Amino acid sequence: MKPEAVKAPAGATRSSNTSAATALAARLRAHVDGEVLFDAFSRGRYSTDASIYQLDPIGVVIPKNEDAAHAAIQIAAEQGVPILPRGAGTSQCGQTVGVALVIDCSKFLNRIVDIDIPGGTVTCQPGVVLDQLNAVLRPHGRWFPVDVSTSAQATIGGMAGNNSCGARSIRYGNMVHNVAAIDAWLADGSGFRFGPIGQSAAPAGANGSLVRQVEAIVEREAEEIAQRWPKVLRRVQGYNIDMVHPGGDYNLAHLLVGSEGTLAFSRRLTLQLARLPAHKVLGVVHFPSFYRAMECAQQIV
Ligand SMILES: Cc1cc2nc3c(=O)[nH]c(=O)nc-3n(C[C@H](O)[C@H](O)[C@H](O)COP(=O)(O)OP(=O)(O)OC[C@H]3O[C@@H](n4cnc5c(N)ncnc54)[C@H](O)[C@@H]3O)c2cc1C
Repeated sequence: MKPEAVKAPAGATRSSNTSAATALAARLRAHVDGEVLFDAFSRGRYSTDASIYQLDPIGVVIPKNEDAAHAAIQIAAEQGVPILPRGAGTSQCGQTVGVALVIDCSKFLNRIVDIDIPGGTVTCQPGVVLDQLNAVLRPHGRWFPVDVSTSAQATIGGMAGNNSCGARSIRYGNMVHNVAAIDAWLADGSGFRFGPIGQSAAPAGANGSLVRQVEAIVEREAEEIAQRWPKVLRRVQGYNIDMVHPGGDYNLAHLLVGSEGTLAFSRRLTLQLARLPAHKVLGVVHFPSFYRAMECAQQIV
């Protein structure tokens, strides 16, 4: 789905690209309930994020609801245009800039759909901002514990997209450890629930075929994964295929987390909640030198 995967057709000229973009904008305006921005100023605004990169998108859609996002994805697929999902755009490696149709989830797709305190989960749309989610959860004595430092801006869809981690991830884990399921659309617009295997991704039909393909890759590469996969707490490069265990108990949402929008567009995410700590303690440690402080970091962790 990402722009790298799509090359301009051979012989494409600047004027043919412009007329294709005009046709795309017209179709989107006719069928998508939301803002359709193809003017130079808007494309300029979306040409940057928190990275050093800068690329003008083909255009921008800000869908007002899920149906509108779905319609935009389907139109882009039919027109052969790559899509680029975007939350707050605070990623630092250029993930949300590209020559694509940017679909901005942050403005309208920000509804908390279900809070299940006994079950310990919350389900929300991708544009929900972490701080806002935690403000709603606080009266229930719960929080979503992947506490990124950009929590006032970061969206749940973006956090899942780049497998965010927080200041307390040694205790609570990264996104990949805290996302229970994701309802998503694939590149052709079809829906798929990425969840625990055995429950949601039944091995039948098109969904089953996708599961089997993933399992086949994991089985084929098992030795390589065991030998070479870095054993570190936070690993964000590449797909999380080391977390898929064919024939075992695993969760396909783990594959989607960290896939940076390249595998599917997240429509709704179900997150595992943690109890708010009953007490908070602050420790202050003094060191005689900078080097002594650095040496002790390992023990403190
Ligand atoms: C000063 C600063 C401090 C930071 N500190 C941290 C930190 O402590 N921990 C940390 O992990 N990161 C940190 N970051 C990086 C970033 O802020 C976080 O990772 C943040 O969670 C990203 O959220 P976002 O909404 O901005 O995502 P975006 O940047 O908008 O998107 C992230 C990825 O998710 C994809 N995506 C967005 N929405 C969807 C969707 N609906 N479906 C599929 N894919 C989607 C995008 O295409 C992109 O690949 C920091 C950045 C800055 C600038």
